[in-house]
Amino acid sequence: MNTKKNIVKNSEKSIQKHRMYIQLFFVLVVLWIGIDFYLFTTYLESAGTTQFFERPPGVEAFLPISSMMSLYYFFLSGNIHHVHPAGFIIFVAILSVSFIFGKSFCSWTCPIGFISESLGDLGEKIQKKLFKKRIQMPRILDYPLRSLKYLLLGFFVNSIFLSMTAIALKYFLDSPYNIISDVKMYYFFANISKFSLIVIAVLIILSVVFRNFWCRYLCPYGALLGFFSLLSPLKIKRNKESCIDCNLCAKACPSFIKVDKINIVISDECSTCMSCVDVCPVENTLELYTVVGEKRVSKKIIVAGIIGIYFVILSIGMISGNWQNDVKKEEYLHLFKNKNSIDHIKNSSDVQKFNRKAAKSN
Ligand code: SF4
Ligand code: SF4
Repeated sequence: MNTKKNIVKNSEKSIQKHRMYIQLFFVLVVLWIGIDFYLFTTYLESAGTTQFFERPPGVEAFLPISSMMSLYYFFLSGNIHHVHPAGFIIFVAILSVSFIFGKSFCSWTCPIGFISESLGDLGEKIQKKLFKKRIQMPRILDYPLRSLKYLLLGFFVNSIFLSMTAIALKYFLDSPYNIISDVKMYYFFANISKFSLIVIAVLIILSVVFRNFWCRYLCPYGALLGFFSLLSPLKIKRNKESCIDCNLCAKACPSFIKVDKINIVISDECSTCMSCVDVCPVENTLELYTVVGEKRVSKKIIVAGIIGIYFVILSIGMISGNWQNDVKKEEYLHLFKNKNSIDHIKNSSDVQKFNRKAAKSN
């Protein structure tokens, strides 16, 4: 351990403000998409009698199951499915960022992650005032609860990769249900039921009490990215020689990782938020390093890298014509009129039914 005499103060600037600006930017993008999509639905509701507003392809970021299926379809056929190409491109961008910079999607770009973090910050302030410490889920509950998101992920992986035949996959991606799944999702929130509102209110309260409740215990997307992040070639490392055991890193970690007790952070819960690195008072003690070659990765590279990967992959998608789908507005109008009678997939027996239908239709 370092002694007080030879401490070299960490003079590198924190990147938490940059992270917050990026989070706010993505929240604004999502709001913009939401407004555009609302305008698109007003056109559908008017049965095509009012001004037409283009459907924003970015809405497909909110169709992770369909995007996962598109990815599987891409592996099987080598083609990007034409119904939700933007969803596929965004999904690939998110997986790529997670593979390189860990689960950074959750702490840098996900709007739900941003809301969750803000609620956690609020909760932490209240808790510190009332109890002088952060409330943490008891360990005996934390581990089983953390496995819930993996069970949900397992259900989706099983339903798609293990249960769907290649024919069923194509049948689903071409289906009316998939085409207007974004419209259906919009109306789920626009006409939200009392029960769903109660569930959301409970999740908000739980997120104030237990930091990142949704992300830590329930989000299957986070589970998938957490798994990918374990493969990341970049990891946060602690230099135990210069560490002064001040415990600031562990206190700052929103994922309750005991950064001060380990030499290298290998955790599916680490979201590469860099809070621990930013609070470390000693120079070159807690940094992001490449696993191979132990090269230090500067904070500037992290910011530029995360933004750059999204920018490059999304640009490739747009330039190559894999962004706007080719569904005509007349087809949207027709499907919208019949949206209540369109097939629904909500559990594995529906998947089996779908497989049978797809096999028959072939
Ligand atoms: S270990 Fe560091 S980078 Fe990872 S979640 Fe905790 S504070 Fe963020
Ligand atoms: S913040 Fe963590 S790594 Fe840095 S000196 Fe303190 S205990 Fe060590």
